[in-house]
Amino acid sequence: MRLVILGPPGVGKGTQAVRIVERLGLCHLSTGEALRDAIRSDGANAKDLKACLDAGQLVPDELVATIIVDRLDEPDCRRGYILDGFPRTMSQAEMLEGLTRSLGNGLSAALFIDAPDDVLIERIGGRGTCPECGRSYHHVFAPPASVGKCDVDGAALEHRADDEPEAVRERLRVYAERTAPLLGFYRSRDILVEIDGTADVDAIERQIADRLEAHAR
Ligand code: AMP
Repeated sequence: MRLVILGPPGVGKGTQAVRIVERLGLCHLSTGEALRDAIRSDGANAKDLKACLDAGQLVPDELVATIIVDRLDEPDCRRGYILDGFPRTMSQAEMLEGLTRSLGNGLSAALFIDAPDDVLIERIGGRGTCPECGRSYHHVFAPPASVGKCDVDGAALEHRADDEPEAVRERLRVYAERTAPLLGFYRSRDILVEIDGTADVDAIERQIADRLEAHAR
């Protein structure tokens, strides 16, 4: 399976990507996580990247393209992968199409999870993210076993700077302008799988499993 997972900020792409990876044994590639790692390790562009992410804006296409090109060709990804947060612009989608073609395998499906803005804003408002492993929790919808701590590594959960209301408004605006057009792109290639993101986490996971199975037939 070679998958991309698309949808507005806060719809649960990261949460579902982790579950799909656990079920299907795919390689998980999150460009947002890779960028946050780069910021944490304080590399060359860390300051500019942080300013960009905190403001809810997209980083330049070339930069995220490098992350994808480097990883997709590694042995664990050759068996199958899920791209979480990539592509986010038409030019990234075209670049990915060229890359998968050159690797000899096109995408199996583009999962599109959607929910209205009021649902997204409520979810983002209650979100806590693990600074160590990047897992997301929600204090009502997906609470950790121990309050404020990551189930996997016990790290104290944090509120992401780009989950603040002003950055969220910008992320929703950028999504509508730059990312939403990708739905038409993948629909025209007959690989778009649409998922109702208003359900709870387990129900969305079941929906994805069923729809992927039907799509593969
Ligand atoms: P995410 O963790 O997917 O919500 O991504 C967090 C932030 O990382 C986004 O708001 C962007 O600033 C940046 N980012 C992640 N993926 C991309 C991408 N494919 N293109 C440009 N910027 C990205």
